[in-house]
Amino acid sequence: MFSIVDIAAKRAALSPDKMALHEVVGGTRLTYRELDARACRFAAALRDRGLAAGDRIAILTHNAASFFEILFACGKARVVLVPLNWRQTVSELAPLLDDSGPRMLLHDAGNAALAQALAVARPGLPLVPVLAEGDAPAAGSYQALRDAAEERHDWDPVWPADGLWYMLYTSGTTGRPKAVMQTFGMAHANFVNLASAIDLTAHDITPNYLPLFHTAGINLHTLPTLIAGGSVKVLPGFDADRFFDLIEAGELTALLAVPAIYQALAVHERFAAADLSKVRSWSSGGAPLPHALIDLYASRGVTICQGYGMTETGPTTFLLRPEETVGKRGAVGRPLLMTESRIVGPDGRDVPAGESGELLIRGANVTPGYWNRPDATAEALDPDGWLHTGDVARADEDGYVTIVDRIKDMYISGGENVYPVEVEQVLHGHPDILEAAVVGLPDSRWGEVGRAYLIPRAGRRIDEAAVRAYCRERLAGYKVPKSIAVVDDLPRTPAGKVRKHVLRAEAMQQATEAGVAS
Ligand code: ATP
Ligand code: MG
Repeated sequence: MFSIVDIAAKRAALSPDKMALHEVVGGTRLTYRELDARACRFAAALRDRGLAAGDRIAILTHNAASFFEILFACGKARVVLVPLNWRQTVSELAPLLDDSGPRMLLHDAGNAALAQALAVARPGLPLVPVLAEGDAPAAGSYQALRDAAEERHDWDPVWPADGLWYMLYTSGTTGRPKAVMQTFGMAHANFVNLASAIDLTAHDITPNYLPLFHTAGINLHTLPTLIAGGSVKVLPGFDADRFFDLIEAGELTALLAVPAIYQALAVHERFAAADLSKVRSWSSGGAPLPHALIDLYASRGVTICQGYGMTETGPTTFLLRPEETVGKRGAVGRPLLMTESRIVGPDGRDVPAGESGELLIRGANVTPGYWNRPDATAEALDPDGWLHTGDVARADEDGYVTIVDRIKDMYISGGENVYPVEVEQVLHGHPDILEAAVVGLPDSRWGEVGRAYLIPRAGRRIDEAAVRAYCRERLAGYKVPKSIAVVDDLPRTPAGKVRKHVLRAEAMQQATEAGVAS
């Protein structure tokens, strides 16, 4: 098994004066030397407070450069960082604190009330505020602890591949979150996979804006950019105007977004006239990319490369290169350098090209498992190291993989399998529809039938009969949604994915209530 080096120390040695992180709002700029020095100090502060290798600390913060100081400090001190989701409530987060057992909870000003409520719910959990640029110094803050500690550089520079670095609760798209263990080796494998797919180098500038409690906020493309010696623009979150400013100023060279962000940029008034030519790499992942969006960006000269990954896979596993997109619309490519994949049927045997089956993944980018959940780990990882993704995929004759859908989202109507993503792709092509989500619901006659939730485009009205006729021209009858709901928005995870189990539960609840009422 390979080891990697302390990334912050190595970068401070190789490119000390290069800008590592720049907070676009607030203006903080950190060179690699400063990033490493701060990480060295906070690692010492953790040790001074009695934390030992393997101990955990939790963090509730919006995107900020300080998060990466803390992440690298944890690497040096071998303390495990547990980023938490600030959209969740006290009753959702308290069990995660019980699960991960952190020795302190770091939080920013925006999450102070939530952190204080958690400290009441779990007495004895020390709170450590993380200040923002320009805040007055405060005793007991992260900055005070860091700056009072000695700048030690005698940390073990060898980071073992299987060493635990941080843990991420899965985004909860399908239910109760589990903490996915993230190792030093996974970070390195993700770097190799991503860098080889987008030719990431020290010349790149990438944005950090997706939530830091999600793998995308850490690993797409921030950690790989910092390993490569590039620069990261840190934004407090997604803001379309600020994105267009950076894109047009040439201050981003490579962008990774989830489809919901590509959609938000596309409907923005600046999209049609914006100069998009200075971003050399555009990629999408995390959820199915509507073909209509691929085509819209293509009409502006932009090739969106679709990728696939999971929290459990570090995440980058597949990512199409721009020159590979011709004739492969909708595909995610072939497994990247550090990764192998298989597609298997219910009998566990590989299916032939063109046929759908479950996607399995193996490689140095794959997690050793779920924290405290040997049952879930054994279910997901087989003894040969293959991770069962729970996703359905198919490969073409050239080995290019297309993600079909989540196994859990497939439903069976009149004995036929329906993959909602296929129906959504058709709906996304309709001129009145901005976004569509389809779920399967129980039906006494057909077993299950589809229900489509549709968000109209601005200024458009959705005519249900016309939408169904549009689907009938393009899909087999059993795939056409039996009912349609026009909605203003959809329940989403903070990463922008539609939470289909919430839609299903709401629809079942309404059906029960209607049944009781009638
Ligand atoms: P949870 O596991 O808690 O339900 P989640 O699976 O949404 O949440 P993530 O690890 O963020 O959490 O997402 C990984 C999943 O996202 C994949 O298993 C797959 O279902 C989906 N996904 C990722 N990329 C794509 C893609 N390009 N096309 C379709 N689905 C994708
Ligand atoms: Mg998952």
